[in-house]
Amino acid sequence: MEDNIALPKTMKQIQAIGDELVKGVNAGDFNQAIMDLGATICRPKNPACEKCPIRSHCLASQQHRQDVLPINIKKKNNQDIHYITGGIYYQDQLYLIKNGPDGLLANLYGCPQYAVESPYTFIEAFKEDTGLEIDVIDHVKDIKHVFSHRTWYMHVYLFRLNSDSKSLYSKKEIDKLPISTAHVKVLKAIYSCLEF
Ligand code: SF4
Repeated sequence: MEDNIALPKTMKQIQAIGDELVKGVNAGDFNQAIMDLGATICRPKNPACEKCPIRSHCLASQQHRQDVLPINIKKKNNQDIHYITGGIYYQDQLYLIKNGPDGLLANLYGCPQYAVESPYTFIEAFKEDTGLEIDVIDHVKDIKHVFSHRTWYMHVYLFRLNSDSKSLYSKKEIDKLPISTAHVKVLKAIYSCLEF
């Protein structure tokens, strides 16, 4: 499921699937087994797929998407802005954008971000803007950045770009660019996942 599991409509869908699954079996035992699996094997970070008893039924594992799914973005306050923020790499370079001359972070560089619900919607928005194809690789980190009048929640994902682009920068080049404080935090998290 590529939808945000923190949304009520997604929870309803999951509940309906769960209701179907427990028909004719002991629901308590089923729930306990799922909780045990989540606590010991299918952990949010680094799930132990190699010893998972339900691996043969797991689409996330079969499609190598266990480091990305599920999408779990909890929104607490309407004043907050949630972004999917992309650490988009091609070989040893990162894709950055320069902000326009107006607005909060005018003329500063940063990673592309969209106020969307999932990295898969990010892929569509990025393609619409740039014509470029990317694949999501991993969830990096959730970063909170507080401005005087608003708070950004940046859900940072790693994406692989499938072709070269003029907006790619090496680490050396990025070190010389003016980067917003929020995106300095993002870059630090991205560099901790990439070896360049
Ligand atoms: S195979 Fe699927 S259910 Fe099992 S640990 Fe991996 S991601 Fe979780």
